Amino acid sequence: MRCSVVTDLSTGDTIIIDGGAEADRLIAWIDGFSGRGPDWSNGPTDQSQLALHGITERKVIALVNTHAHFDHSGEIPLLLNRYNVSWYLHEADFYLQSLVQNSARRYGFELPQPAVADKKLHDEMELVLGSLTFTVLHTPGHTLGGCCLLLELDDGPDQLFAGDTLFAGSVGRTDLPNSGGDFSVLSNSIITKLWPLDADTVVYPGHGPTTTIGVERSTNPFVGSSSPASGKYR
Ligand SMILES: [Zn+2]
Ligand SMILES: [Zn+2]
Repeated sequence: MRCSVVTDLSTGDTIIIDGGAEADRLIAWIDGFSGRGPDWSNGPTDQSQLALHGITERKVIALVNTHAHFDHSGEIPLLLNRYNVSWYLHEADFYLQSLVQNSARRYGFELPQPAVADKKLHDEMELVLGSLTFTVLHTPGHTLGGCCLLLELDDGPDQLFAGDTLFAGSVGRTDLPNSGGDFSVLSNSIITKLWPLDADTVVYPGHGPTTTIGVERSTNPFVGSSSPASGKYR
């Protein structure tokens, strides 16, 4: 499962997206660069590199989730405990979130009492978190409340945190219990909300390698331009 940590290097403002697993490891890495960080990172790798940007720490100011499957949201209580910030989730996933302990038990994991989001994501909202601004795209289909978060950059391609909506060469499962998954809804979400984005937009899926909108739009076997789903929803 991919958790993304986004830091504005001019302010230190930091957002954790889908910080629902390995919370202890995540906290150790965010607070002190200790232990193993993300498996893939294009940011500073130690405190001295942060200092080069004139900041001393990654200041966590909000938690945001693309959806409420337990591997993405189960350990949010540990992060809330540490950072005491708001947690954002689409309301249509609140029910799913209430079930994370049961869902995890089916896979043999014990989780704390589920966190309750205190802030709601809405389609097309401008989510201003400190010095970072995201555009929320509600992309149901993998879950009812699934969202993608778009971060537009002045000095590089846009960045899309896609949760389990879109993967490199695949799409999210639509058969998971209590999730409201539906392939026609999912493909409609991707084709109408994600394909209009810039081709060079970097996609960070909830699992597996990163990709770009352009590559998936032309080659994705489920929703790309030569797939059966393509063309149905335009
Ligand atoms: Zn999921
Ligand atoms: Zn997932």
